[in-house]
Amino acid sequence: MGKSVNKLSGQLTKMAVTLPAATEAQYDMRIGDQTMPMNALVGKTITLTYQGEINCLNCQRKTKKSYSGGFCFPCSQKLAQCDLCFMKPETCHYEQGTCREPEWGEAVCMQDHIVYLANSSGLKVGITRINQVPTRWIDQGATQARPIFRVKTRYQSGLVEVMFKNHVSDRTDWRKMLKGDAEPLDLTMVRDRLVAECADEIKTLQQQFGDDAIQFLPAEPVVTIRYPVEQYPSKVTSLNFDKTPEITAELQGIKGQYLIFDKGVINIRKFSGYQIEMVV
Ligand SMILES: [Zn+2]
Repeated sequence: MGKSVNKLSGQLTKMAVTLPAATEAQYDMRIGDQTMPMNALVGKTITLTYQGEINCLNCQRKTKKSYSGGFCFPCSQKLAQCDLCFMKPETCHYEQGTCREPEWGEAVCMQDHIVYLANSSGLKVGITRINQVPTRWIDQGATQARPIFRVKTRYQSGLVEVMFKNHVSDRTDWRKMLKGDAEPLDLTMVRDRLVAECADEIKTLQQQFGDDAIQFLPAEPVVTIRYPVEQYPSKVTSLNFDKTPEITAELQGIKGQYLIFDKGVINIRKFSGYQIEMVV
């Protein structure tokens, strides 16, 4: 008899990730209301087909193009999560009363954030909501991460990040991240150096916002993350559903939000909102 075939179809959203203790990052593909555990598919051939339709992640209307990572144009202009301040937290304007969606801002931005160091393609600094740990790190393909500060609001975390950005990158080189695991770093040493270099600025921020608003986290352990990758590509070729609507290829690994195939890599998050069929 033939092997069993599993077929999922519907609207794509970014892969769900979890990090069970002492194991590797676990990925679930989310297509419509169905999910498919992906780690067990590494080494197997799968087919992904773009069915020619994109629906806005917010209002579900059909849109010719995806804006701000999966929205129709009107929603990209009205949602707070599509505002520039969400990418540049130091420009958060909630406190000025001009948030596009104050209730959403209250729930998402006016809560505790973590300022962290991670090692994705190399050392980087970043911020994330406290409940996005370790999701954010896995989405970036980090192999190591360490929280440095717990901060009261997104805006304040942005100010701390800007301070550190003068000393370390806030970017991931995704091509490099997909070519292999970054050289391990001593994040404790790096943290101590950064905190010493920025001591005066940290004190100024703590005086401005209060000592409990920007809390140093000396005892937080380094989190180590492994990924289900059998083989890294030596040359990274980017696949795109707009140019290649059907991808049939051997899945060689998963890292960040990328599926790594023998014929190229695809950033699943980038195609959120696309109608996709997956056959495994
Ligand atoms: Zn919309």
